[in-house]
Amino acid sequence: MTQERGRGRSSAVIVAVGSELLTPHKIDTNSLFLTERLNGVGFAVIQKLVVGDDPSGLSRALGYALRLADVVIVTGGLGPTADDVTRDVVAELLGAPLEESPAIVEAIRARFTARGLEMPEINRRQAAVPRGAQILENPRGTAPGLWLSAGEACLALLPGPPRELRPMFERLVQDRLAPVSDGRRVERRMIRTTGRTESHIDELARPIYEPLAARQPPVETTILASLGQIDLHLSTVGPEPEAGARVLDAAVADLAGVLGNSVVSTDGRSLPEVVGELLRRRGARVALAESCTGGLIASRLTDVPGSSAYVHGGWVLYSNEAKVALGVSRELIESHGAVSEPVAEAMAVAARDAANVEFGLAVTGIAGPGGATPSKPVGTVCLALAGTAGPPRVRRVQLPGDRERVKFQASQAGLDLLRRALLRATDAGP
Ligand code: AMP
Ligand code: MG
Repeated sequence: MTQERGRGRSSAVIVAVGSELLTPHKIDTNSLFLTERLNGVGFAVIQKLVVGDDPSGLSRALGYALRLADVVIVTGGLGPTADDVTRDVVAELLGAPLEESPAIVEAIRARFTARGLEMPEINRRQAAVPRGAQILENPRGTAPGLWLSAGEACLALLPGPPRELRPMFERLVQDRLAPVSDGRRVERRMIRTTGRTESHIDELARPIYEPLAARQPPVETTILASLGQIDLHLSTVGPEPEAGARVLDAAVADLAGVLGNSVVSTDGRSLPEVVGELLRRRGARVALAESCTGGLIASRLTDVPGSSAYVHGGWVLYSNEAKVALGVSRELIESHGAVSEPVAEAMAVAARDAANVEFGLAVTGIAGPGGATPSKPVGTVCLALAGTAGPPRVRRVQLPGDRERVKFQASQAGLDLLRRALLRATDAGP
């Protein structure tokens, strides 16, 4: 490993091979997985290249990548057909002639035999190995991976299909990479928040994370904002992962302290998972009355395995008739409008009572583009939560964006209303 190459940290370049990755129909996802795992064994990914099944283009890309990085990971182009050229290009580039491996031929033949098939002759191409390469077995497919040294750099050739690449990387590549990175490790933590804006989160968190950049090991902080959710990512790089872990755990505790109930999780769990866990702990169930979210809250809650323990079910109360049929008074709708705090409250109560469960959660809003009035612009959303103790909690929010964004943020706000109520109840004891 050279310091210039790695700029103080071992460096990796990922080369994704496949003409399909240059069309509007398919995107390189392997590099996301690879980046996470490479970081985990101390590598910074400094560039990613996407190249088609074109020998001269691939050769140029590989030559470039090998000059740049300590490790180059190539994915794809190891199939049996003529458009899969990775093996040939690498053999040519490194001056390592291809030799057929009888063991690989037999392994491929055995895969076909097990399915009652004969091995097509073209699959022999997958048994061609550049001289000096180590073979990485592929229990999930016919193409083995290959591990080579190329001057000062190392080169791994991995199959394109994610279900083949992932176990191969975990079982056979990670251990070969660790010595290259000099034992450096990246430690990571993530604090997931909701209910506050990015600038508000930054204002609260900055006094804590800024000084951490000067600590040993230094903590790198990035704020990642997505719809209705702000995630704080913290990481350290160094030869002692334990030291990094200690600094990060202390930082997470301090940050969680100032961010309070805005913190959804510090262990990567999603908002629906956290809400589910809080409901489960209380032995409580929720029924949903959704208008503008059209069932999205129910859908997101039931994405979590085991959610039948706490999701009773729900109603999509889209029309006024549907709301009235569940027990919302027509006069209430007429006097306040379907998107109003009183109607949200009545929907939540109706859902809770009709289902005979502990919580009724309701959302009604204007997702747009039509339906707005001067006092209720697009993005006006009213939410209500009816519980067992005290009057229902009711909120009105103004959400930005188009229909899809308003719907998602409304679902996020509904889940968060429930989460905060469950947290407060837990604080107060059983
Ligand atoms: P290959 O090894 O080139 O024969 O790749 C076989 C299949 O793996 C392709 O048709 C894609 O569906 C998938 N694949 C290849 N490269 C990638 C990538 N970088 N990300 C996600 N899928 C990929
Ligand atoms: Mg391909």
